[in-house]
Amino acid sequence: MILHVQKKANIAALQDFYRAYSLEEKDHYVLITPSAIKEVDESHKKFVIDSFPMESDIQLANRKYITSTRKIEFNEDLCIGGDTNNTLMITGPCSVESEEQIDTVAQFCVAQGIKVLRAGCYKPRTSPYTFQGLGHKGLILLAKMRDKYGLKIITEVKDATHVDDVIEFTDIIQIGAKAMYDHGILRACSKIQKPIVLKRGFGSTLQEFVQSAEFILSGGNNNVALCERGIRTYETKTRFTLDLCGVAYLKEHTNLPIILDPSHAMGYAYGVPDLTRACVAMGIDGLLIETHPNPKEAKSDASQQLNFEEFIALKKSLDKVASAVGRKIV
Ligand code: PEP
Ligand code: MN
Repeated sequence: MILHVQKKANIAALQDFYRAYSLEEKDHYVLITPSAIKEVDESHKKFVIDSFPMESDIQLANRKYITSTRKIEFNEDLCIGGDTNNTLMITGPCSVESEEQIDTVAQFCVAQGIKVLRAGCYKPRTSPYTFQGLGHKGLILLAKMRDKYGLKIITEVKDATHVDDVIEFTDIIQIGAKAMYDHGILRACSKIQKPIVLKRGFGSTLQEFVQSAEFILSGGNNNVALCERGIRTYETKTRFTLDLCGVAYLKEHTNLPIILDPSHAMGYAYGVPDLTRACVAMGIDGLLIETHPNPKEAKSDASQQLNFEEFIALKKSLDKVASAVGRKIV
């Protein structure tokens, strides 16, 4: 249950009593108890301004609590959610590979009017014998691209050992699918105000996915977007299965902006344009598309990255789909 509590209440005592989290707002506290608690103790009723009993631990992210999509501001002119109808295009290579490579992509972004450059530095590979990312050196290169081209930077945090480094260097933090349950990362991301793109673990239920977001929200960071990137099913012809049913669920039941990643779901560049158009048709808040100057030479996820011509063709085709569902690609 979520309670709005007067400032004069003894919030520490209430937190103890209900095993609750609390957030401080301008003129009240927000107390978040386990959802199993449905009633306020008689002695506390005088402090309670409003109460929102919840069916499950999807609470702060619940559309029954905040009834429209929360707004995330990347800067004054770049927002998603709220009353914006924006679908933010985020693109870049799977990994930062060299200064030349990332600079080429950054220039491409500027030419295409893309505002957010994405590339991984700490790669969560399934084999230890493959390229693991440039690590800290990659972060420095991304920060250089931000300074040189005025792009916002997003990169992935893979484990808690480098979370502070990623937070310091980037504008938006991507929590990777394999890190969705990493509490060290979730806690660190809850203590900052930078936007977080939380990817769904490929074996996670929607309930578990949104509860991971609750760890960030209940720690005090409201700027969380959910990213569907494909779940594992029995199918082997595609890399994962993009759960658009899940997206419909999240739109209906949660108040968090939704970003879709068709690249990792499909796993093959040939399918990414059609899948991206399907994503945009769902009326979502953002897209994450992998693009590389020369996908064949890419050090990770080579098969799914679009080359520049493919990206240009895709982007051109999206405006019509977006406007058909009242959205604008930004
Ligand atoms: C990535 O975004 O490059 C990536 C590794 O994604 P995911 O965490 O979804 O596997
Ligand atoms: Mn990738």
